[in-house]
Amino acid sequence: MPLPRGLPVVDHHCHLSPSGEGVAAAARFRAAGGTHLFLTTQSYGPTAPRTREEYRVQFETTEKLAHEIAERVGVTTFLVVAPYPIDLVAASAELGGAAALAAHLEALDLAGVWVREHRAVALGEVGRAHFPISEEAGRLIEAAFRHALEVARDVDCPVVVHSADLDAAGYRELAGLARAVGVRPERLVKHFARGRVEPDERDGVVPSYLARRELVRDVLSDRGPWFLETDFLDDPRRPGAVLDLTTVPRRATAIAAGGESAAARLAVPFLDSVRQVYGLDLTAPRPGGA
Ligand SMILES: [Zn+2]
Repeated sequence: MPLPRGLPVVDHHCHLSPSGEGVAAAARFRAAGGTHLFLTTQSYGPTAPRTREEYRVQFETTEKLAHEIAERVGVTTFLVVAPYPIDLVAASAELGGAAALAAHLEALDLAGVWVREHRAVALGEVGRAHFPISEEAGRLIEAAFRHALEVARDVDCPVVVHSADLDAAGYRELAGLARAVGVRPERLVKHFARGRVEPDERDGVVPSYLARRELVRDVLSDRGPWFLETDFLDDPRRPGAVLDLTTVPRRATAIAAGGESAAARLAVPFLDSVRQVYGLDLTAPRPGGA
């Protein structure tokens, strides 16, 4: 059974680079059956940006790539922008904590402006380090995360969170932090979720599951909301670091082959969750009409 007519096929978190495979990777995604990408910004140079202006250039690079993908490949792309929290580790060592944080907060404000202007649909990745860092860097990153949540509250948008793996207590803590700032936990997406967590154990926070075969089969019965992602990095120096960009459409095709009821479950990550979390309706016809 082919993919159901009208069903979008969405990779909820990937990165593409003009110096990597770029548009060609999006073409492979489409050829495999993919229709929509949530494209998250990343630093494209040898060192991460240090100023608001450098982050602006970074966001514009991502946006330009998104436009090229739409025009040349016909895949719809949603932009997710923010300064990457880990950038603060090197930036603070170089500029000092106060100056590094000030620039980072300005870049977060800029990301908020992009959401307000509908150039981006969410803030991301923001959050915390996934490896041990100094107490000082940890303090800066925490301040940045809080500010990111404040910006998301003010512009009323979802937040794509980078963090270490979370258990139920971790999800609860994240939800608590969001509430303390005035953000509904339902607006938070924990990206790179590598294990199933039940709706009752995530306190409103939405997992974006890494599209590994066993995990996808396992979470298919989850009532949602949840997403699927590859976290494709498009970095030739790190082949195989994450999943290939064709993974989500390949998994979706395999599931659809399992019959109508399995195929119907795909509406949870590709339609219902996108509507619930982002307010976006992806029911437009599939490119090519297949
Ligand atoms: Zn990522």
